[in-house]
Amino acid sequence: MTNVVNLLDFDPTGLVEYCASFGEKPFRARQLQHCIHHRGMSNFDAMTILAKSLRDKLKTYASIRYPAVLKDYTSADGTRKWLLDVGEGNAIETVYIPEQRRRTLCISSQAGCAVNCCFCSTGKQGFSRNLVVGEIIGQLWMTEFALRATHGRFSAGERVITNVVMMGMGEPLLNFDAVVSAMRLMLDDHAYGLSRRRVTLSTSGVVPMINRLADELPVALAVSLHAPNNALRDKLVPLNQKHPLEELMVSCSRYLRVSPRDFITFEYCMLDGINDSDKCAQQLLELTSDVSCKFNLIPFNPFPGSRLLCSSAERIKRFTHILMDGGVTTTVRRTRGSDIDAACGQLVGEVRDRTRAAERVQQGTNAGLILTSKCSNNI
Ligand code: SAH
Ligand code: SF4
Repeated sequence: MTNVVNLLDFDPTGLVEYCASFGEKPFRARQLQHCIHHRGMSNFDAMTILAKSLRDKLKTYASIRYPAVLKDYTSADGTRKWLLDVGEGNAIETVYIPEQRRRTLCISSQAGCAVNCCFCSTGKQGFSRNLVVGEIIGQLWMTEFALRATHGRFSAGERVITNVVMMGMGEPLLNFDAVVSAMRLMLDDHAYGLSRRRVTLSTSGVVPMINRLADELPVALAVSLHAPNNALRDKLVPLNQKHPLEELMVSCSRYLRVSPRDFITFEYCMLDGINDSDKCAQQLLELTSDVSCKFNLIPFNPFPGSRLLCSSAERIKRFTHILMDGGVTTTVRRTRGSDIDAACGQLVGEVRDRTRAAERVQQGTNAGLILTSKCSNNI
C-alpha cells in the first residue's frame, strides 16, 4: 500500500501533474477531481466518465483515503463532532455547526498546536505534527458526503456544507502549504465551489504568513487578538513575543487590500479579570483604529485544568457597548456544542505530545513559554 498514492493529497494542479504522469490530458484530471470532490466517489469502477484504461491504472496505483472515524458525537443543539484517527496515537477533531442560514464545518490543521495560548486546550496538549493535505480536505470530504447521504432533505447535488472555518485544532498558518492546497480544493468549481468569502482562516497572528496568504490565496481572515497591548498579549498568546501587535496591525491593513471581505474579524476570548476591563475595550479601539474590522467576542470555554474563568454576562455586555459606541460592529459568539466539548478551545482530540508541553504545564515548568500560574485571574 505504501506506493499507492492518496488522491486526496493532490490540489487541482497536483492532480493535473499526477494524471500527466500517465500521459493523460488536464481535462481528465478535472473529470477525476469532479468525481472525487464534487460527487464524493471513491470507487474507481464507478467513475465511468473516465476511460477504462485510466480507471485500471488508478485501481493499481491510487486510492482515496480519509482519516478513520473513531467517535461521532451529536450535541443537543445539533452540533456534531467527529474524532478522527490520523495515526501513531494522534486523533483530531472536526465540528459541524448547522444554523438556519448556513452550515459550517470547523476543520483542524495540525495534531496539537505549538503556539500554546494559555486559555486553549489544544495548545495545552503541545504539538505533534502538521496534517497533510488529504487529512485536511479529508475532513470536508468525509463530512460533506456522509451528511449528504444521511440527510434526506438535501436535494441531489446540493451542498450540505456552505461555510468552512479553519478554526479547529492547530495554527493553520504554521502548516501553510498543506492548508493552502486544501483551501484551493475548497474553492475550486470542480470540487466544493465555495467562494473565498465563505472560507475563513483564523490565525493567532503569524505575520509573515498572513502576508503570504494575501499574495497566494486571500480568503476571509480572522485574527485571534485577545489582548489590547503587547504586555498582556505576550502572556496570553506567546507568539506575540515574536510578532507584536504593531506588526500584526500593519499586516492586517495590507491584507485588507486583497481580502474578499472588507473587514478583518478580530476574535477576543473574554477572560474574567484578565482582558475584559473598560480600559481594555478603549485600548482595543485605539489599537484597531486604522483597520476596518469587526469584533467577535468569544465567552471563554473552560476545559479540565484550565483554571480560568469566563467574564460575566454583564461584563461582556458592557465591553460590547464600549466597542459599539466606538463605531466597531461587535458580536458575541454563541457557544455551540459545549455538551460534547465541541466549543471553541475545547478541541483536544488525542495527541501524542512530542513537545511534552502538557507535562511541563502540569509540573509548572513550562520552560520558555508561559506558566499556567501566570494565566490566573491576577495577571
Ligand atoms: N489557531 C487558530 C485557530 C484555532 S482556535 C487561532 O488561534 O486563531 C479558534 C479560536 O478559538 C481562536 O480565536 C482561539 O483563540 C479561540 N479559543 C481557543 N481556546 C478558547 C477557549 N478556551 N475558549 C474560547 N475560545 C477559545
Ligand atoms: Fe493554537 Fe489557536 Fe489554540 Fe492558540 S488558540 S494554542 S494558536 S489552536
